[in-house]
Amino acid sequence: MSKSAKTLVVLLVSAVIGWTAGCARPAPKAPAVDVAGMDRAIRPGDDFYGYANGGWMKATVIPPDRAVYGSFTLIEEEVTRRTADLIQAAGKAKAPEGSAAALVGAYYDAWMNEEAIEKRGLEPLKSDLDAIAGITDAASLARVLGAGLRADVDSLNNTNFHTSRPFGLWVSPDFAHPEKNVGYLLQGGLGMPDRDNYLDTDAKSVELQQKYRAHIVALLKLAGIADAETRGGRIYDLERKIAAVHGSRADSLDVLKANNPWPLPEFAKRAPGLDWEAYFAAAGLSKQPMLMVWHPSATTGIAALAAKEPLGVWKDYLTFHAINRASPLLPKSFAEEAFRFYGTALYGQEKPRDRWKRAVGAASGDLGDAVGQLYVEKYFPPSSKAQAEAMVENIKAAFGRRIDALTWMSPATREKAKAKVATLYVGVGYPDHWRSYAGLEIRRDDALGNAQRSELFDYHWSLAKLGQPGDKHEWWMTPQTVNALNLPLQNAMNFPAAILNPPFFFPGGDPVRSYGAVGTVIGHEISHSFDDQGAQFDADGRLANWWTPEDLAHFKEVAARLVAQYDAYEPLPGLHVNGKLTLSENIADVAGVAASYDGYRSAYPKAPELDGFSGDQRFFIGFGQAWRSKERPEALRSQLITDGHTPGQFRADAVRNSDAWYTAFDVKPGQKLYLAPEARIKVW
Ligand SMILES: [Zn+2]
Repeated sequence: MSKSAKTLVVLLVSAVIGWTAGCARPAPKAPAVDVAGMDRAIRPGDDFYGYANGGWMKATVIPPDRAVYGSFTLIEEEVTRRTADLIQAAGKAKAPEGSAAALVGAYYDAWMNEEAIEKRGLEPLKSDLDAIAGITDAASLARVLGAGLRADVDSLNNTNFHTSRPFGLWVSPDFAHPEKNVGYLLQGGLGMPDRDNYLDTDAKSVELQQKYRAHIVALLKLAGIADAETRGGRIYDLERKIAAVHGSRADSLDVLKANNPWPLPEFAKRAPGLDWEAYFAAAGLSKQPMLMVWHPSATTGIAALAAKEPLGVWKDYLTFHAINRASPLLPKSFAEEAFRFYGTALYGQEKPRDRWKRAVGAASGDLGDAVGQLYVEKYFPPSSKAQAEAMVENIKAAFGRRIDALTWMSPATREKAKAKVATLYVGVGYPDHWRSYAGLEIRRDDALGNAQRSELFDYHWSLAKLGQPGDKHEWWMTPQTVNALNLPLQNAMNFPAAILNPPFFFPGGDPVRSYGAVGTVIGHEISHSFDDQGAQFDADGRLANWWTPEDLAHFKEVAARLVAQYDAYEPLPGLHVNGKLTLSENIADVAGVAASYDGYRSAYPKAPELDGFSGDQRFFIGFGQAWRSKERPEALRSQLITDGHTPGQFRADAVRNSDAWYTAFDVKPGQKLYLAPEARIKVW
């Protein structure tokens, strides 16, 4: 999870959040827990997720337009509906030219105008396709590749490692000098999510490979390109070669492997094959003294392929990807073909989401701050911000006390950890400053052009940050995103307004449930600053390990036991959770429960019983219910391979590492989730 915000005064506010109060909203008071969603015939000690969510699991059917359905999607639906209302209202009100509302309104209208999209056919792609057709030699290939570079990856904050362009750029504070921004260059070039999708040889993977190949051919045929079968085969083979030189997901997550400052003139020597001079000139990067190369062997490998593979194959490959990326905004036949592969084959989705929902999602992505501004004005009142900020302060303080109480950490390391807590910036709701879109052209009749210009605008915005001081308060997630984020290079985090909604956050409702549901998420994000990745970044955000070898040895020993705990979970027959891939997230879940529990106990030491549940029971049920989620097998499979997060059902089981959970539900030896006290993992 990822998001960020700011610190504040806490005590006064938490006094206002009492459960008796007719405080805040006139809306009906949220129940203490969702009793109907539970299955109380299940013993919590056998299956805590089932106990908290059995009723909901039985009653819930994944909508046909969804691959996954749970708390996050529930909120997302609500936020999308609200946002659509705002956008449509803005359109009707004739918002002033250039205002956030006017931009968003025009963007949305263009997206919804299927007739115009149908009529224009492939015409909006013409200049891109012409540039590709004009490639005649290595230098022109490099120019087209460089001109296509976008800021479409984010390796540490959103951990988005995927781009279908051969490389992706991320602009963020420098590992060694957090006081200034540098460019990070990441591997890319694949149409499927991960190298493993190409290289795995099990039956399911082979089937997906065949479907992807067929998708390439189908799209080429729709575009009227001759010899689609032959060309499609070559395009697939080139991608497979790119996949073979890619670093693995685990490599990507290892920052020590990513700390490779390459001076620009060195690229030709270290990664021969691509005309880097032409590439950087076209990408607007020539003046940079260096770039941080996140995936050195992939960079070398892809550059070598630029020289080794015939130009004709590269041209076909680039043509396919230009069309493929644009397909949601091309005529219906293209959009439907793309959905057949990316929606159904890859994620098991039966039908696309309603067009208006996708339009809102696209506007939210391309004009994030403009949409965010509209959203928080209406749906995130100062009272909600204050309540959430109070919770953040309590949990931060609790985390500090837990550090004081650690027996395994050396005093020197402890001091550094405390310094890191002290300078942590936690952003709640929305950023201090909104981003300007001045200069971005949004046309009411050009959906694809709007999307492309937005991407390019964002790229130039990122380039403009290069060499500038890093901004500790910069947000990396929009307020309308249902998620939260840790920002290691800024020693900061973001908690967008949208996650501060039920079933995570209950403004004016039982605060204990909010601590269980979203407080644990806040604790989760805070702990990322101190986990195996966070330990590598100091209080200023510098990549500098602040642990002694003894601290690290202890941590690794505990971490290995947690890897084993999660490796044992088997969400699909024969397919287990990858305890190593998900380790950071699992540590954060365990730590988040611990810190939020302490925060709740210090704020409400005498929480009364409500609806028959004690405070501790409501805290843990709130946690279990926040992770309710149903996934289609295809989506679950994809998540298990590529995602650093454990599936929701198993995240709920993090409670078995908390002593208070055993007391709250009288969990006994012999029950399935029971762990002997010494087997419970306590990292923080
Ligand atoms: Zn996380």
